[in-house]
Amino acid sequence: MKKIKIVVAGGGWGGCAAAIAAVKAGADAVLLERADMLLGTGLVGGIFRNNGRYTAAQEMEAMGGGDLFHVMDENSGHKNIEFPGHAHASLYNVYTIEPAVKKYLQDMGVEVATNASVMKIEKKDGKVASVTTRDGAVYEGDAFVDATGTSANPANCVKYGNGCAMCILRCHTFAPRVSICTLAGIEEWNGRKKDGSLGAMSGSCKLFKESLGAEIVKELNEKGVCVVPIPAAANMSEKLGMKACQQYATKAFAENIILLDTGPAKLMTPFFPLEKLRMVPGFENARFEDPIGGGKGNSMRYFQFANCSRTLQAQGEVDNIFCAGEKGGAMVGHTEAVVTGTLAGNNAVRLAAGEALLELPSALAVGDFVNHVVDEMKDDAKRGTKYTFSGSVYFERMKELGLYDCDLSSIEEKVAKAGMTDIFAKKIK
Ligand SMILES: Cc1cc2nc3c(=O)[nH]c(=O)nc-3n(C[C@H](O)[C@H](O)[C@H](O)COP(=O)(O)OP(=O)(O)OC[C@H]3O[C@@H](n4cnc5c(N)ncnc54)[C@H](O)[C@@H]3O)c2cc1C
Repeated sequence: MKKIKIVVAGGGWGGCAAAIAAVKAGADAVLLERADMLLGTGLVGGIFRNNGRYTAAQEMEAMGGGDLFHVMDENSGHKNIEFPGHAHASLYNVYTIEPAVKKYLQDMGVEVATNASVMKIEKKDGKVASVTTRDGAVYEGDAFVDATGTSANPANCVKYGNGCAMCILRCHTFAPRVSICTLAGIEEWNGRKKDGSLGAMSGSCKLFKESLGAEIVKELNEKGVCVVPIPAAANMSEKLGMKACQQYATKAFAENIILLDTGPAKLMTPFFPLEKLRMVPGFENARFEDPIGGGKGNSMRYFQFANCSRTLQAQGEVDNIFCAGEKGGAMVGHTEAVVTGTLAGNNAVRLAAGEALLELPSALAVGDFVNHVVDEMKDDAKRGTKYTFSGSVYFERMKELGLYDCDLSSIEEKVAKAGMTDIFAKKIK
């Protein structure tokens, strides 16, 4: 019998997780990434297992979908650290993680194609039949996963003056970011900042460690975290409301420079004007690591997330596209992208196999997260909110619902009670 073929567009954390899930469910999977490296915005992040992300990662592990968290763990320079408002965080090294993930995918049997930007789709009988990349290669599939992210058009860098995040996804010469949902005519929505303007900014940028004072670097290397009080002249508190990552929009982050060691020094603010930053002792020679405009503002995202159901099936005139990562809604984070990517990849195989689609039970944090966010996205007023296991409104909800849990045996029990043990490790066909 012909093997099911799943085509995943976009090689960020969402797409990588979807491809792995498809292979584990018994299908062939091809992962198409427009740039020459995988991981997209994951190339500049690094924080995982902080706060509710710990519970989410362990639930995924118990459900047989923990693969990528293991790769992150193996590439973590710092584990189980604390920084203001965040417990038991791990930091993967952004310089070593990408080749490790690529190797993991290839060892699993995923066909990984880089420099393979999807530009066109063909539809037939209410389905997407194939996608075509910029070099003219045609990839036919039974079902497709859109994991192309939500970064904006580079024209927004010029228009808004604070970054479209396409630079993080590697140079624009690789190709534009093109969403297969857009090509298929699926309804898509924009996110907004607190002031109502389009997009949202990231919570961090990167500094070259070599440009920082010796004491700061020593502390960063040893502890993974360094907190430096900001003198009044360099205060940046008015910028807090602009962050996508509202879990970092607290007083501690306004009054202090908080650095994390992810290879470079990850500066936990969306941007910091260089002349102000250089007023802070130890930062006199500070230099931002390209390509992010750390002195000006970076990573405008949440343009084009798609209307999808709780199973992450895109809702429109074709039925065989599933959404992974930020494409599925205003969800922030690597962990969040792995969770949604895994569900999208698994459901793509279920659809192609003629099986009922999986909706994760709301009794689990990962299930409540996906179901809640997807439902919230239907309401225009909610599209300004960003959701993450690690803080802000969703972490509060997790705690209120008793879904935040750091006890491994209790997490395994909950997963078993929900009938979800090893669900992502089982062959569907
Ligand atoms: C500066 C910054 C710091 C961050 N720090 C953290 C952190 O520390 N911890 C955390 O959990 N989260 C962090 N995040 C958020 C996190 O990175 C994202 O929410 C998550 O990784 C999104 O994954 P994704 O797969 O949905 O999309 P993306 O990472 O946007 O990946 C999309 C991929 O699709 C590719 N693509 C686009 N169009 C096409 C096409 N037509 N054909 C083929 N490929 C295509 C792109 O090149 C890209 O590789 C950070 C984000 C930024 C911008």
